Amino acid sequence: MKLHEYQSKQIFSRYGIPIPNGRIATTADEARNIAIELGGRVVIKSQVLVGGRGKAGGIRLAKDPHDAEETATQILAMEIKGLPVRKVLVDEAAIISKEIYLGITNDRAARKPVMMASSAGGVEIEEVARTTPEKIIKAHIDPLLGLKDYQARDIAIGIDLPKQHWKLFNQIANGLWHAYLDCDATLAEINPLVITEDNRLIALDGKMLLDDNALFRHPDLAELRDLDVEAPAEIEARKYGLSFIKLDGDIGCMVNGAGLAMTTMDIIKLFGGEPANFLDIGGGAGSDKVAAAMKIILTDANVKAVLLNIFGGITRCDEVARGILVALAEVKPKVPMVVRLVGTNAEEGRKLLSDAKMITADTLADAAQKAVNAVKTVKAGR
Ligand code: GDP
Ligand code: MN
Repeated sequence: MKLHEYQSKQIFSRYGIPIPNGRIATTADEARNIAIELGGRVVIKSQVLVGGRGKAGGIRLAKDPHDAEETATQILAMEIKGLPVRKVLVDEAAIISKEIYLGITNDRAARKPVMMASSAGGVEIEEVARTTPEKIIKAHIDPLLGLKDYQARDIAIGIDLPKQHWKLFNQIANGLWHAYLDCDATLAEINPLVITEDNRLIALDGKMLLDDNALFRHPDLAELRDLDVEAPAEIEARKYGLSFIKLDGDIGCMVNGAGLAMTTMDIIKLFGGEPANFLDIGGGAGSDKVAAAMKIILTDANVKAVLLNIFGGITRCDEVARGILVALAEVKPKVPMVVRLVGTNAEEGRKLLSDAKMITADTLADAAQKAVNAVKTVKAGR
């Protein structure tokens, strides 16, 4: 999960990292008032979860409150790489004399977090890595020991940071490390960390990526999720605790168990078809969850046939069947549905579905073939 710049900077600030004075605005009027509070010159920054906002015109300086209002009006009307700008951050403008990059991410090969810094800040770190890799200074952090002072000092020396900034840089590097650690982040980045004309060190930009699998430990952070960046089907799936990934094919799949879902997708491909999604309803899913899953699949316009592959262990086939009936009553699908139900209460499940005009299958191979053929028939009929 990505955090917005203002959210990341607020977290950074709690860890002792200096950030510019500023606040978030959702209207041009608010932007103007914030500019008055801040004393005039501000920078108006679109809050959208894509890179390169600056180049897209989503970050602009404003010389006074009136200018701030006009600039905010324009930026709030923008769409950047398909995402609407709903908020702008109004920050005190900084006069920059140097831009530095400072970030932490996981180095999977080293099995440790790594802190990276570069004197070529402001530019994307991937770009620096490509063109001038020698400008990136790295220090691996032992998760048990944490970031050591000598490591922060080595980095400061490596990026030619003037000595007068070392103490604060150490505080910033440590703050970034602890923010990264405490939030279960996979990336914490300041780009640029600037030295201002009056010799202050400030984080002008902030970016954090959080590990989705750790969000259950951070209900406060989970709340910060911006739903604009996600497909509606994925939001709906998360609400019901379904593992759902949309794919490019035309056979909608509903399966219980990730391994079984993989197998189902493989077998569909083996018979020349393409799955439209990966969907694992999980073990012991009740009828409401099944109905939600079915609705998600059926609202995808690419889906030309549906394959239900349920192995009833803890999950009861009759529960699944009931969920399917609920969904069918609501969505009224026009596509053929192939169902393979085996295991606990399978007989009862099949009986419930017998009137629903579904194509039944005995084995997984049989089911996959029937689904692939159903798609061919649908396509030939058009
Ligand atoms: P990004 O393009 O999404 O990474 O957004 P940033 O917040 O990093 O801003 C991009 C660039 O805009 C920075 O590298 C700076 O050069 C410039 N910028 C951002 N804030 C200020 C500011 O307060 N004053 C000045 N002069 N430039 C700024
Ligand atoms: Mn940036």
